[in-house]
Amino acid sequence: MNYIVFDLEWNQSPDGKRYENSKLPFEIIEIGAVKLNEKKEIIDSFHRLIKPQVYNWIHDSIHEVIHVNYKDLAQGMYFPKAAQEFIEWCGPEWYFFTWGNQDVMELQRNMKFYNILSLLPGPVTYYDVQKLYSIRYEDRKTRRSLEYTIDQLGIDKSHGFHRALEDAHYTAEVLKNIEDEYILPNSSIDVYQNPKKKKEEIYISYPDYDKYISREFYTKEKMMKDREVTSTRCPICQCAAKRKIRWFMHNSKVYYSISACPEHGLLKGKIRVRKTEANRYYAVKTLKLVDIEEAEEIRMKREALRRKRQLKRKLV
Ligand SMILES: [Zn+2]
Repeated sequence: MNYIVFDLEWNQSPDGKRYENSKLPFEIIEIGAVKLNEKKEIIDSFHRLIKPQVYNWIHDSIHEVIHVNYKDLAQGMYFPKAAQEFIEWCGPEWYFFTWGNQDVMELQRNMKFYNILSLLPGPVTYYDVQKLYSIRYEDRKTRRSLEYTIDQLGIDKSHGFHRALEDAHYTAEVLKNIEDEYILPNSSIDVYQNPKKKKEEIYISYPDYDKYISREFYTKEKMMKDREVTSTRCPICQCAAKRKIRWFMHNSKVYYSISACPEHGLLKGKIRVRKTEANRYYAVKTLKLVDIEEAEEIRMKREALRRKRQLKRKLV
């Protein structure tokens, strides 16, 4: 199994959002990657510059952070060929590693734009080194910049940042400082290619919570009536935990609930409503054991919403 650490640089509409191509808001202009063996030794690297097809010069804000010349890009390769070579270079079996959670998604969106997404069937499992660093060295929640992390770990940073191959190298160096016991149970899943049918739905158990990704629904209301979407099974024993606070809408994208497992105590349910490019809906649900304080926070959120609604009713 190869460890593939990759980093992408992308461009955006140089004339602002109004002129962006909604199918490709971020156009990849550089792919950098390093390959590590199971002992986490770097054994190969990959680098391609990409000749842009959608946006014809580099957006100023991008220019400030990445140091690519448009002239160099003109010598680059067409994205479909570069992506195909990248996937071939990865080999038959690999784990993907990236810094943050955006690169895996953008890679797929660019591949879809050129009709080559079948080269990378989803949903794509990967490891977010930024998250792994937080799990290993901090509080699981904080997200640091790559440069901050490099400084903390005392890694040589003489190569500069914000070029794809350099950043992939730095990310690999951070990865070397994280033991497998922190990596393997903490994979991430990118749902750009989300489940379409019931049998494609995803269930994952993490050390401290369970995650479920539903199939698609035509409306949010239908989704929130689905038994599987709204079920609240205990992440430890899988028993049907009894609802203490029913699912309520916190905002248009998030629902919460509180349930109780007789054996393991209170659990917080959270449903994030996601919308696809084709305007369908799917749910990303997490179920996590919480203490009484966190459960109380959820109850107060519901109360605050109720009061707001009552007040509105009184005013009209
Ligand atoms: Zn339980």
